Amino acid sequence: MLIVPEREIQGLMTRDAAFDAVEKVFAAMAAGDAYNFPVVREAIGHEDALYGFKGGFDKAGLTLGLKAGGYWPNNLEKRGLINHQSTVFLFDPDTGKASAMVGGNLLTALRTAAASSVSIKHLARQDAKVIGMIGAGHQATFQLRAALEQRPFEKVIGWNYHPEMLPNIEKVAAEAGLPFEAVDLPGMAEADVIISITSAFAPSLMSDHVSNGTHIACMGTDTKGKQEVEAALLARARVFTDEVAQSISIGEAQHAIAEGLITEADVAQLGAVINGTHPGRTSDDQVTLFDGTGVGLQDLAVAAAVVDLAVEKGIAIEVDF
Ligand code: NAD
Repeated sequence: MLIVPEREIQGLMTRDAAFDAVEKVFAAMAAGDAYNFPVVREAIGHEDALYGFKGGFDKAGLTLGLKAGGYWPNNLEKRGLINHQSTVFLFDPDTGKASAMVGGNLLTALRTAAASSVSIKHLARQDAKVIGMIGAGHQATFQLRAALEQRPFEKVIGWNYHPEMLPNIEKVAAEAGLPFEAVDLPGMAEADVIISITSAFAPSLMSDHVSNGTHIACMGTDTKGKQEVEAALLARARVFTDEVAQSISIGEAQHAIAEGLITEADVAQLGAVINGTHPGRTSDDQVTLFDGTGVGLQDLAVAAAVVDLAVEKGIAIEVDF
């Protein structure tokens, strides 16, 4: 069995490798070659922790495994550790033997950023110039850095519920040599692409704040009850997702479905656009929306990629198991 510790991920995994892995696995999901297992998520009654498993099997990439982990709210204060903790375990699909154990914390951030980037590549207008960020926390910086590689953006605008956090994304814009402007929510009308990545339970971005032709990647809503954008925006947009079952139950679409504004049939897999079996955006006026809920197969795909990179560089630790 090979071990790739968390401390090695930063030096091994690239945004390009994460992008390729996620794009491929979304395509495999839409082709019926890869499927996610039901998610387990439990409040374990210890340290207020939420712990669970996300797993799946990709028959095309021959990747089988799971990500185990969750959220320990006291980690930072009590122990100086980050609150989100996860580890990916891969298994040989021919034998069932454990094949790799990989640190999953940074990989989660990279695979989530890759998902919105893949959506921008396939759904945003080619002439997109202004990118808007709703959210400025830990994950927002990853989303923005990856998104900036998808179009020749000329400007970043941002809004955050806690405005004092906006310098986090301003820094990423500056690294890329782009101007940054803090805006109010109606100011988002200037954006050609919007990424929302917050932990909100009520919508911030309303349909009126969005101009025709915009692509929106909603990345924060991954649990029942969370919501970042007005449900009416999903009724107005062409809606795409990583996995339809998750989108309508724990993703942004849960609200538009509950309000009777859209049905399950209105939500398409982004993978189908990648495979060319769905046309995706068909006019420059359309609003497109990607409901990125986060699937186990994304974790397995980036973990498998990082194991290959670790083997190539002689960094993987081999143990007899
Ligand atoms: P974080 O704690 O670093 O940042 C939270 C962000 O939410 C900040 O911008 C904060 O200002 C904003 N926020 C908090 N309360 C708000 C409110 N009431 N209204 C509007 N905004 C509010 O967290 P993070 O690591 O950046 O993660 C952000 C979200 O992304 C979380 O909800 C997390 O569960 C989700 N997430 C999703 C995926 C996925 O695959 N879809 C993956 C990782 C994280």
